[in-house]
Amino acid sequence: MAHDCSFLADLSLDGEVSFGESARESHAADFGAEERGEGVIPDAVVWPESTEEVSAVLSAANDRRVPVTPYAAGTSLEGNAVPAHRGVSLDLSRMDAVLDVRPDDFQIDVEPGLLGAQVDEAVASEGLFFPPLPSSGDISTVGGMIANDASGMKTVKYGEVSDWVLELEVVLADGSVITTGSKAVKTSSGYNLKDLFVGSEGTLGVVTRATLELAGRPEQVRGARALFPTLDDAAEAVFDAVRSGVDVATIELVDGDSARMANAYTGTDLPDVPTVFLEFHANHGVEREIEFCRGVFADHDLRRFDAAEEDAMDDLWQARKDLAYAIQLWDPDLTALHPGDVTVPISDYPEMVQFVKERADERDLLVPCFGHAGDGNLHYSVLVDEDDPERVEAAHALYEATIEKAIDLGGTATGEHGIGLGKREFLDAEHGPETVEAMRRLKRAFDPRDTLNPGKMFPETADGERVRAESEQSE
Ligand SMILES: Cc1cc2nc3c(=O)[nH]c(=O)nc-3n(C[C@H](O)[C@H](O)[C@H](O)COP(=O)(O)OP(=O)(O)OC[C@H]3O[C@@H](n4cnc5c(N)ncnc54)[C@H](O)[C@@H]3O)c2cc1C
Repeated sequence: MAHDCSFLADLSLDGEVSFGESARESHAADFGAEERGEGVIPDAVVWPESTEEVSAVLSAANDRRVPVTPYAAGTSLEGNAVPAHRGVSLDLSRMDAVLDVRPDDFQIDVEPGLLGAQVDEAVASEGLFFPPLPSSGDISTVGGMIANDASGMKTVKYGEVSDWVLELEVVLADGSVITTGSKAVKTSSGYNLKDLFVGSEGTLGVVTRATLELAGRPEQVRGARALFPTLDDAAEAVFDAVRSGVDVATIELVDGDSARMANAYTGTDLPDVPTVFLEFHANHGVEREIEFCRGVFADHDLRRFDAAEEDAMDDLWQARKDLAYAIQLWDPDLTALHPGDVTVPISDYPEMVQFVKERADERDLLVPCFGHAGDGNLHYSVLVDEDDPERVEAAHALYEATIEKAIDLGGTATGEHGIGLGKREFLDAEHGPETVEAMRRLKRAFDPRDTLNPGKMFPETADGERVRAESEQSE
């Protein structure tokens, strides 16, 4: 349903408001939705320039029951930023200032539209960095990372984005502005609303300022690459390394198919066998840690282990970062279904990897697997000819069975990409209906008119009816 957004013109914003077709079309999808040919064109796009302008837009839209979907860099993979019910796409990318750097406290205050990599650039001269950057850190924003609770290659050592957010300024659905969290590194004061907003995918409030914690750059950074004859060996080796307490900053698994695709896209010459990429951070004794890791891996039929200085690993890391594109462009006749993002307890990781590969072999499907293995995270893409309905059905069955298996193992349908549109149907299975109902009550408390990013997160809001109908009764 189209919404009358003409009220935006009366708000006299400094930021741009557009009703033009190309602006609206460019906000119809995020990376994942675009890849699948999905998307919904909003009625208007607004680029606010301040917290006050975000507040003015939300207040006016909420009064008129016009949906508002926050949009940042649009790199989400699950349709998180798609304006499912049209209305306003609120593009935060122009609120991208560094507000303050406090190196003595290891802190930075930023606006949400700043790219993750720009946080690192802003603090590099102080010898600091923002550790939980996702692989997409140079193309995605702080606000998007907070909203999706992103994590990345260094999460195995440093944790996810939520572990590095100290304080947030948030505009609520009715336009009111709150600050939550603290600049102290710990607080036990009041409800922890800050962590509620992290990972809420723009459904509870719009982040307009964030205080992030930073870490000191380690003096010693080394890379390594380990080759294994089978994926089982590689997955077992990863589990063993984590269980044995190897102090590793990054531990990424890439299967043979993914290595082939990376070579074709990035021009690297990775051996197309199961490979584990590692990065070690330390202020002293890094070589000892590398030897410890090599020893653990040796118990798993390790075929080759090469340690390298940080610079020598750059091409390999780039190949790993580009894998999403490499898979997408591998074969013009094959389409990648929803990207898999399951995460399981680390002891179950080998079983999870084996499950996917066995199901793929049984169905004769091409399923490249890779991921932040040290976190128990497995990304998988089922590549399929969309004109072949039988193969498409088999591919969907594999995709779903993998998520069900992860949940059975005590894991999650999404380790880092969020629910968006793509994972709504698994929410009940993962959390149970009572817990999902508690989440729904929270949504109604913060956003009774279902203004913010409607149609996301909850399965029954796919058509927007349930939350809206209930919110109308409760008013
Ligand atoms: C090649 C590639 C690699 C990737 N690798 C990783 C990875 O390693 N780890 C990982 O976690 N993800 C990864 N992603 C997914 C994605 O990049 C991250 O989730 C990223 O954090 C999204 O940020 P964005 O700025 O693009 O946000 P968008 O996609 O624009 O928006 C994301 C969500 O946040 C909401 N939102 C945006 N700004 C705000 C705000 N200020 N306040 C409230 N809500 C807001 C939107 O409504 C939406 O729900 C990858 C994606 C690609 C394309």
